Amino acid sequence: MNTIQQKIEALRNELREHNYNYYVLDNASISDYEFDVKLKELQDLEAKHPEFFDANSPSQRVGGEVTKNFENLPHEHRMYSLDNSYSKEDLLDWENRIKKIIETNIQYTCELKYDGASISLTYENGKLTRALTRGDGFQGDNVTANVKTIKSVPLQLKGDYPPKFDIRGEIILPFEGFNNMNETRIELGEEPYRNPRNTASGSLKLQDSTEVAKRPLECLLYNLTGSNLGVKTQFESLEKARQWGFKVPNAAKLVDSIEAVLEFVDYWNTERHKLPYETDGVVIKVNSLQQQDELGYTAKSPRWAMAYKFKAEQVSTRLQSITYQVGRTGAITPVANLEPVELAGTTVKRASLHNADQINKLDIRVGDEVFVEKGGEIIPKILGVDFSKRPLDSKPTEYITHCPECYSSLVRQEGEAQHYCLNYLECKPQIIGRIQHFISRKAMDIEGLGGETVALLVTEGLIKNYSDLYELTKEQVTPLERMADKSADNLIQGIQKSKTIPFERVLYAIGIRYVGETVAKKLARHYKSIDAIINASEDDLLQVDEIGFKIAESVIAFFSSEENIFILNRLKQFGVQLEMSHEELIGKTNKLEGQTIVISGVFESISRNELKKLIEDNGGKISSSISSKTSYIVAGDNMGPSKKDKATQLGIELINEHEFLQRIR
Ligand code: AMP
Ligand code: ZN
Repeated sequence: MNTIQQKIEALRNELREHNYNYYVLDNASISDYEFDVKLKELQDLEAKHPEFFDANSPSQRVGGEVTKNFENLPHEHRMYSLDNSYSKEDLLDWENRIKKIIETNIQYTCELKYDGASISLTYENGKLTRALTRGDGFQGDNVTANVKTIKSVPLQLKGDYPPKFDIRGEIILPFEGFNNMNETRIELGEEPYRNPRNTASGSLKLQDSTEVAKRPLECLLYNLTGSNLGVKTQFESLEKARQWGFKVPNAAKLVDSIEAVLEFVDYWNTERHKLPYETDGVVIKVNSLQQQDELGYTAKSPRWAMAYKFKAEQVSTRLQSITYQVGRTGAITPVANLEPVELAGTTVKRASLHNADQINKLDIRVGDEVFVEKGGEIIPKILGVDFSKRPLDSKPTEYITHCPECYSSLVRQEGEAQHYCLNYLECKPQIIGRIQHFISRKAMDIEGLGGETVALLVTEGLIKNYSDLYELTKEQVTPLERMADKSADNLIQGIQKSKTIPFERVLYAIGIRYVGETVAKKLARHYKSIDAIINASEDDLLQVDEIGFKIAESVIAFFSSEENIFILNRLKQFGVQLEMSHEELIGKTNKLEGQTIVISGVFESISRNELKKLIEDNGGKISSSISSKTSYIVAGDNMGPSKKDKATQLGIELINEHEFLQRIR
């Protein structure tokens, strides 16, 4: 092996270990920053030395592969389903059936039943070679490129693994990641995902693996399949899998009797609510693999395993009415108003019905007795209707055709799930919603002003849009309900203070559909002023990093509205930042125009991000790899030796951070 190859292998091993510590053991062994630096180094080396390519290198986890049609391939070993049980009696019956075949000494492994999408991974010589979905149990879809991006799936095993085997598990989306994904979607005016399970299985079928890489999926393993695996029991196989680098939850327990199984079930029935992901039961497996063999399979499932389904935290209650909410974008959301009922420790009165399709699918009607469930998600959901209790005179729900607030006709565009009220200018909840968004923490962050006060100000006719806020006087707001003298002062002060909020946040605050925080930043930094954005054509906008058709169209539409332009002009008059300030523009020069600069190593007086910003602010371009086009390299400590070699080879100048700062001064 030559030294470059050794270096590459060493980096791969190191990154693998850090990945394992972080994603499997939940125990970080390096800072994110250091990890990124090393990953970058590996990527650079691999780019320069394609001869050492390895499909299972940690660098492959960022995705990049696009699959148009997933290939359907046979499973080497069939993926069975599980029989379900719901009570102690069911479990005792199961044990009796087993005891007719095996008389003595039965041990059971108890595991949690993770609620996600099942997956079968094939490993050959310690490397992941294939990942198939369950499909119909005989054949599944080849989703290898996507599964490789899931960080808790080892691409290279460690220890004494067998030469070839399949391992089965569940791809899940923990609550935290799921809720974060939804927050972002809601912010962008998109419909939130329904539940973690469907989102996890949907993720596996995304065409672009780069998108999958961004989703916080995890893979939990529970079954080894193959011959000569060197294990005699289920419990042992879980321990082995753990040693080889797989994520196998520690909840698994080996017990000697069905009574002990029931204790396990009881314990987790409540304890599971503390887990960071969804579980829907327990899976009990006869521990001895030899006994498993003796027991064999029915047409559909193994006789040696049984799922025990938890009773989901579910109640039934009456649907009193359906009301329709209008969001700030005009999107209509039907809401079920329920007879209040206790569920998982809270009183539930309302649940989202999402959209017209959902109402049709459930065939839900006012007066129905409905089943409600609450998982780790934010909003409780309605699972279905108890048709046996439907009143005789019940009539199908007719979705509204007009906005409940402004009575204008609703529109549902092709391909969209939601109905919209298009009366942007006069529909009250839209007006209020836009102003509430404007003042929110990530936008103008107006202290002393809350959502309810905004609603009050609008209803009282004191403001019609967010620009009116800047004309409010203390005398006008003091008479408002619950508004003390002090709070009125604070409110007016808070509004005035918001005039210093930088342009990029103002751009987010004005509420252009699909322009979230990140997009607003990109646009602000690219165009530097609202006028430049107003004058940009669609083609122009499409040139900006990360701006696609949907966003470009929405930006154009926003600024074609005379009313919007009028409001923006008022904001400008009042002194709200509609362009980058002098401070922001200071230090922005064209000194580095036309130069392509590489940053490498660690710096002492400046962070890597600051350095990047300086280069960009001065008109330079940053590149991650050294080539003949590189103007020079800003080199810090610990610059990779291979990078140094390459620079010398190509005769590219290396300067340190101080020299760089001198140059742009
Ligand atoms: P079902 O889909 O109801 O037939 O249940 C069978 C599914 O449960 C399997 O296909 C697995 O995807 C899933 N499952 C989740 N956790 C486990 C586990 N610990 N052991 C076996 N299967 C599990
Ligand atoms: Zn309306």
